[in-house]
Amino acid sequence: MESITVSDLAKKMNLKASDLITKLMSLGVMVTINGQIDSDTATILAEEYKCKVNVVSLYDETVIETEKDNPEDLVTRNPIVTIMGHVDHGKTKTLDAIRSADVVSREAGGITQHIGAYQVTLPSGQQITFLDTPGHEAFSAMRERGASVTDIVVLVVSGVEGVMPQTREAIKQAKEAAAPIIVAVNKMDLPDASMERIQQQLSEFELIPESWGGSTIFAPISALTGSGINELLEVILLQAEMMELTTNPKCAAEGHVIEARIDPGRGIAATVLLSRGTLHVGDPFVAGIFYGKIRAMYNDKGQRIKEAYPAQPVEITGFSEGTPKAGDPFQVTKDEAMARQVASKRQELNKLEEAKNVKKISLANFMENL
Ligand code: GDP
Ligand code: MG
Repeated sequence: MESITVSDLAKKMNLKASDLITKLMSLGVMVTINGQIDSDTATILAEEYKCKVNVVSLYDETVIETEKDNPEDLVTRNPIVTIMGHVDHGKTKTLDAIRSADVVSREAGGITQHIGAYQVTLPSGQQITFLDTPGHEAFSAMRERGASVTDIVVLVVSGVEGVMPQTREAIKQAKEAAAPIIVAVNKMDLPDASMERIQQQLSEFELIPESWGGSTIFAPISALTGSGINELLEVILLQAEMMELTTNPKCAAEGHVIEARIDPGRGIAATVLLSRGTLHVGDPFVAGIFYGKIRAMYNDKGQRIKEAYPAQPVEITGFSEGTPKAGDPFQVTKDEAMARQVASKRQELNKLEEAKNVKKISLANFMENL
């Protein structure tokens, strides 16, 4: 819940803070000039003066202007894919199988780095970015922060076990995020696996195969043997092509934090996926409530890079303080002063937010307690 200090509210309403305090007292709320009142109380109070309260969030108050896209600057970008499905249906194994289909990491001697996302290059040279955090929690955490990073959801369903509670949950979440679903029917190496049964079960959820007149792609796979994985990657590319995913690589970089950690050698490191722009070493940035200046960047193979592009997973260092959260917005600013200023404003707003969770004074509460 949002809040405001009495003195700030008085300023906005063009009143004396002491008058507001008196008014609040008459409403049964005891508060000092620097005390916080929440948005419900502020709304009730404002109505007394025939004023209207507009509640704004942390990021609304600290909007960083972005450049408009020139249509001629738009280029096709790689699709970003999240793998979801019921526990033990083979999400991790599928991610592993896909990773080993990457021709670039094979060349690099199979060195892989867990940075929360990875990019697979197919023999054709086409690329797909996978979020390396299977499961619904990561997806929900991102969505809660308003980040819709995923273009396509690959729903892994065991051809043996069939549709289970987390399968249904994943379908719901993908639909809420308006992300198209590709169904990967896994464990097809087992004799009891049945593609038809899964298609039957999923038709209840409007996931209907093309052969039955629908438009959902079903890919039979075995994450264990690797069979069907290349075909799965092909249909992901086909789906991406239909979506015509484009971006502007020429503007200031912006995107989202996918994961952040404290690396013993490098300090605070965050994996970022850009939605637009090109990121360079030395760029000043804001990520959530923290700021910094890009000190070094690494790709998902652990190699140092100087530039990063939209949909390319990149790990950055150079935070001045604090570790951002998954789903936090990331944005390059015109200079470091601006980055610092935006971050400090957000921290201030964030502190108020946290303070309210500890001590919440509202007229409604107060009345209930009478
Ligand atoms: P997750 O919980 O969805 O990440 O599932 P995992 O990838 O950890 O797989 C769960 C279990 O199923 C493990 O024991 C895997 O070895 C097994 N498994 C995954 N994919 C296949 C497959 O294609 N065939 C067979 N036979 N077993 C599989
Ligand atoms: Mg797993």
